[in-house]
Amino acid sequence: MRTQEPVLTIEELRTVFHTDDGLVRAAEGVSYELYPGETLAVVGESGSGKSVTALSVLRLIAEPPGEIVSGRITFEGVDLTALSERELRRIRGRKISMIFQEPMTSLNPVHMIGRQIMEPMLLHRICNRQEARRRALELLRKVGIPAPEQRMSEYPHQLSGGMRQRVMIAIALACEPDVLIADEPTSALDVTVQLQILRLLKDLQQQMGMAVILITHDLGVVAEVADRVAVMYAGRVVESGPVEELFYNSVHPYVEGLRASIPDPEQEVARLRVIQGQVPDAARLPPGCPFAPRCPYVMDRCVSEDPPTTPVAAGHHVRCWLNDPETVEAAGAVEARRSET
Ligand code: SF4
Repeated sequence: MRTQEPVLTIEELRTVFHTDDGLVRAAEGVSYELYPGETLAVVGESGSGKSVTALSVLRLIAEPPGEIVSGRITFEGVDLTALSERELRRIRGRKISMIFQEPMTSLNPVHMIGRQIMEPMLLHRICNRQEARRRALELLRKVGIPAPEQRMSEYPHQLSGGMRQRVMIAIALACEPDVLIADEPTSALDVTVQLQILRLLKDLQQQMGMAVILITHDLGVVAEVADRVAVMYAGRVVESGPVEELFYNSVHPYVEGLRASIPDPEQEVARLRVIQGQVPDAARLPPGCPFAPRCPYVMDRCVSEDPPTTPVAAGHHVRCWLNDPETVEAAGAVEARRSET
């Protein structure tokens, strides 16, 4: 049983976008919590709402067209959705910081690396310029950048993709945040560099004791670094729990499909398994469970009622009618379908 209080709690978050195509419900009642010192992987395909939820935490959603309609995001006992922009600026980058997917668009091309690492420390008045420079050099060393003195006065275009991502990590860690949100931090990198960056993040997390939300679509990444997982689909958390539970005891058919699509190096197969069908258009979600059009176990109730989130085991929750014995019994044919698949 977990006795610690979460450092960050998201409850029933609803974030929408007003588009020419209609109302896009990007986060539809998202809830999850993050505990001190842990890595929570938030997994899902593009458009599942994982990045929108993270951006809502720091209120980095462009309003309009975006809008946080309802929900609570609690950090250190304070609801972030109720803070003024000025109050939030004291938290952003200092207490909660974020690493984005593509360092070349996040780093400022006309400022030297050293200045960009020192900036958050000076902005949040953590130390004076001399101390900020000393800390920036130390951070560059910590993230494994060779010849840090020389790199301090170089520009982003002079570094490789992997080095730029290390600089982004150094900037995000400059103020020693309690929470780090890493949004697909390795997807723009070569596979060999990806692993180095993930291990670096894990080492730094352990040294600094911060909690990490790792947003990814890659279950291999999850297996490497996560303690717990929240899987998102169509703006909802469909299953969440400890990483072993999700890998070996998942309930939701979407999670089952994701696991089945991981290639097994031990087995030679002609074709990888895929989840049939398409991710639904977020502006035109079907009634009921949004996974119903792709689900091999779909029951009558699924197409009319969106399932609630229910417990499977301690700390393990799912949003699927398969976890409701009465529904499964009433549908009858589910077991037959399972054995066919
Ligand atoms: Fe499939 Fe029904 Fe579960 Fe949705 S609620 S994932 S359609 S079984």
